[in-house]
Amino acid sequence: MADTIDVLIPEEKINARIKELAERIDCDYAGKEIIFLCTLKGACFFACELAKRMTLPVFMEFIQAKSYEGKNSTGNLVMKLDVPEEAIAGKHVIIVEDVIDTGRTLSHVKQLILSRHPASLAVCSLLDKHECRVVPFEGDYIGFTIGDDFVVGYGLDWDQKYRNLPYVGIVR
Ligand code: 5GP
Ligand code: MG
Ligand code: MG
Repeated sequence: MADTIDVLIPEEKINARIKELAERIDCDYAGKEIIFLCTLKGACFFACELAKRMTLPVFMEFIQAKSYEGKNSTGNLVMKLDVPEEAIAGKHVIIVEDVIDTGRTLSHVKQLILSRHPASLAVCSLLDKHECRVVPFEGDYIGFTIGDDFVVGYGLDWDQKYRNLPYVGIVR
């Protein structure tokens, strides 16, 4: 039987918000070139839509990171896909993420990218489950703050399914 998915954020609302974010980033980085460091796989739909609405030159790079929580550790970062320092050093980098949940993944990723000497580093996430933080982490550009439901669509998956839904929804 097919899963039922309740729409949480409809496509029109997402598109309107992405346009606002693009305008803000355009304004904040006026006169600069930007590297979007898109976190695979979830953020690729969002990153492309955001890039298309910007007027500044946007360069695309991709990383894939997983953070694991060991029994007695505060979490380990495993990079399944990484970028070389030359792609980042001296550049204005914006990490583009699908959702910030516990904050573990991005706090590790941010440290790693900072160690490669970008000219500046910011984080832009489509979604922020702010109440779910386990480690303190603040994004710089946030599309929507949501609750603790597990969401799918607009790039986000459930066992690799539902990424291509044009809206963000909750699997019932
Ligand atoms: P964090 O390290 O912040 O807990 O985890 C962030 C990652 O967990 C996200 O980039 C995403 O891959 C996954 N994640 C967290 N919450 C959700 C959710 O509601 N739906 C989906 N599909 N993935 C989620
Ligand atoms: Mg992600
Ligand atoms: Mg996933």
